[in-house]
Amino acid sequence: MELYELGIKAAQDGLAKGEFTSTDLVESLIRRYREKNGEIGAYLTFDEEQALALAKANPKSVPIAIKDLINVAGQPCTCASRILQGYVSPYDATVIRNLKANGFIPCGRCNMDEFAMGSSTENSALGVTRNPFDPGRVPGGSSGGSAAAVGADMCIAALGSDTGGSIRQPASFCNCVGVKPSYGRVSRYGVTAFASSLDQVGPMTKSVDDAAILLKALAGRDEMDGTTPDVPVPDYPSAIADADMKGLKIGLPKEYFEVSGMDAEVKRITDEAVRKCEAAGAELVEVSLPHTGYAMAVYYIIAPAEASANLARFDGVRYGHRSAASRDVTSLYLKSRAEGFGPEVKRRIIMGTYVLSSGYYDAYYGRAQKVRTLIKRDFDEAFAKVDVMLTPCAPTPAFKFAELQDPLTMYLNDLFTIPSSLAGVCAASVPAGFTRETKLPVGVQFIAGGYEETTLLKACKAFERIMA
Ligand code: GLN
Repeated sequence: MELYELGIKAAQDGLAKGEFTSTDLVESLIRRYREKNGEIGAYLTFDEEQALALAKANPKSVPIAIKDLINVAGQPCTCASRILQGYVSPYDATVIRNLKANGFIPCGRCNMDEFAMGSSTENSALGVTRNPFDPGRVPGGSSGGSAAAVGADMCIAALGSDTGGSIRQPASFCNCVGVKPSYGRVSRYGVTAFASSLDQVGPMTKSVDDAAILLKALAGRDEMDGTTPDVPVPDYPSAIADADMKGLKIGLPKEYFEVSGMDAEVKRITDEAVRKCEAAGAELVEVSLPHTGYAMAVYYIIAPAEASANLARFDGVRYGHRSAASRDVTSLYLKSRAEGFGPEVKRRIIMGTYVLSSGYYDAYYGRAQKVRTLIKRDFDEAFAKVDVMLTPCAPTPAFKFAELQDPLTMYLNDLFTIPSSLAGVCAASVPAGFTRETKLPVGVQFIAGGYEETTLLKACKAFERIMA
């Protein structure tokens, strides 16, 4: 076995026993990177020198691959956008500081959809990432590079970010565990903002135990992010050690099982997952999330609105790309942004600016906020009856490059992940099987209430056990 194949737990055990050092781990990952990245494209950049220096200074730490929107001092942070090419972070995001304080080091920058907008990583302006299970298919997105790195054993584990499904959907496409923590559980300080009321960083790993270990390191109150409450962080790994399906109350939201256009193999795998949970002693309860049908519309008002404000800072003055063709300050802004942003980012900025404009604010943004409250209430009511919910994660397995041409069809990929993001609760994707003919991985989604990560991870671990 090669060291790059290890997960976090195995790597920590080996380090503790003195079987190898961090430098050995990083050297193994560098070999793997050189051999595999040309084909998979999981990483945009991999600073071998910095990784080796960090490993040497922290000989018992585990290297973690980082999505290219999280700031690491001295590293590029491009968000896979031309507008941030050449930018070097002056500081560490809180999640990176937390990693370092808990025996991890950042290692490599993973590709993504530009500014995390997309579901296939095809919106990256800086490179192509391929699905490790079929190079003709996408890895999912927006955290496609992180998912591909985990799925192709090009890292021990990775960090992704999820605004409406960007950890969970690529995890499903690349056979990894992906956890979107409850809103506020993990600090966003130093994480390039897409939609601030939705963004969360989370683990993408080879096992549920690894996700628990990594989440414990990431989570907690941060003075630099006012949306992180002072809720104690449980010791997730030990809290889930005795996870068991027996007696678990699993809600099946009926709206998620009545969707048209769902792939037949995804349906089969999800139905089988449900049956296996029941056979292992879980109690199935049908629940209803009646406002599910409005979630896409609400998301595509709120997320672009917040994005249009967040992306205003990229003006050619303070960060990254500055147009050489500008004559005055106005043309500097216009040309730098026109040259620097890709088509999907521009589409979101235009939508966001429109829904926030004074004439339409109440009709769109104000209304969307009200419906968001109703969606959140649906979840509160369901969680009064059940411990977790089990749903499909994405309506299809990994699709082919250029298969989804129209932006609206692409948006529909997040049908099952967006409502829980709007509600601010926690959710995860766990591997559930493979399609029969195409042999593509498919994950199912577990959802738990706000700050119920222990319950969520317990269900995921119990599921992982019965699938083993
Ligand atoms: N695919 C969704 C979007 O494009 C979600 C992205 C995300 O979670 N970052 O907005």
